[in-house]
Amino acid sequence: MAQIKLSNLRHSYTPDPKDDADYALKKIDLTWDDGGAYALLGPSGCGKSTLLNIISGLLVPSEGQILFDGKDVTALPPARRNIAQVFQFPVIYDTMSVYDNLAFPLRNRGRDEDLVRKRVTSIAEMLEVSDMLSTRAANLSPDNKQKISMGRGLVREDVNVVMFDEPLTVIDPHLKWKLRSKLKELHLRVKATMIYVTHDQTEALTFADQVVVMQEGEVVQIGSPVDLFERPAHTFVGHFIGSPGMNVLPCDVSDGAAFFAGERIALEGPAGVSGNGSAEIGIRPEFVSVSESGSGLAATVRKVADIGRHKVVEAVAHDRRIHAILEGEAPGAGETVNLQFMQSQTRLYKDGWLVSRPGEAA
Ligand code: ADP
Ligand code: MG
Repeated sequence: MAQIKLSNLRHSYTPDPKDDADYALKKIDLTWDDGGAYALLGPSGCGKSTLLNIISGLLVPSEGQILFDGKDVTALPPARRNIAQVFQFPVIYDTMSVYDNLAFPLRNRGRDEDLVRKRVTSIAEMLEVSDMLSTRAANLSPDNKQKISMGRGLVREDVNVVMFDEPLTVIDPHLKWKLRSKLKELHLRVKATMIYVTHDQTEALTFADQVVVMQEGEVVQIGSPVDLFERPAHTFVGHFIGSPGMNVLPCDVSDGAAFFAGERIALEGPAGVSGNGSAEIGIRPEFVSVSESGSGLAATVRKVADIGRHKVVEAVAHDRRIHAILEGEAPGAGETVNLQFMQSQTRLYKDGWLVSRPGEAA
């Protein structure tokens, strides 16, 4: 196990990159602490697999270094990095038994059969595949093939990091939640550094202690699931995480106060920008309340979705859609209402980045 540091990393797939758009990874500085459970979260095409392949050595970055416990491994091939990688699609030997598949990474490194048996038995138990050990891998369902693929990633006890690249893609939806919690449990048991790559916020938030959110080749925020929910550092994070995501409304800042379509909106604290100009207000639907009278932003209800535990109200104010999540009674479609934003949760963003600070509002 090791601490993994990425320093000044850039990567372009084109031989002669000219501007930022030519880089799949624009500039990455990132430290993964020993033993951590990390998720790398971002939409398809944002550079997650590129980053993973650079850590494992399948790709050599155009610029920058990879350090394992301070040692530069940038030029080392994958086999010398001591890493386990689980891919989107199962990588197993069809002609071998499940046992031999799981044993392969250990035997390949000349470990003695006593240890092989111990590790294979224990991994098979954790993954609940003990009854399949003598089955030929070719005869497994896709789900079970991927479980074995994961097992092959987890069976070695001496790896620097185990990396999973969207491993649940081929798994049936009803099994997904089970494997997801299984992986979390495995992390607690094996204590290896794990990096779990996904475009699915639920997978990321249930697995990870720290989530690294990427967008277009850049890291936009690193934080605990709570950090990402409570203080999105960028409107992209606010939008990408949450269901529905954070409401983002255009506003004008004037003398430290924010105005949405001329109406003053009280911020959590100081605006954190000097001068006047355009910016954005960010407020999560969980912190928007709806009343049929009183003060607030006048809005018209468009739709109400009852999703069991709560209702999602979609309202429109000054041509902008605003979501509110309500626990109890909700107004009906077409009604005129007032929206109130919880002040301590009302943030200001400038060029996408969080600028407001908690405290005494201006
Ligand atoms: P993700 O895993 O987040 O979906 P990728 O790392 O696969 O994203 O891709 C990041 C960007 O790099 C995308 O624009 C993709 O088209 C491009 N890309 C990925 N692999 C290659 C490749 N082998 N050659 C050229 N471009 C690539
Ligand atoms: Mg990918």
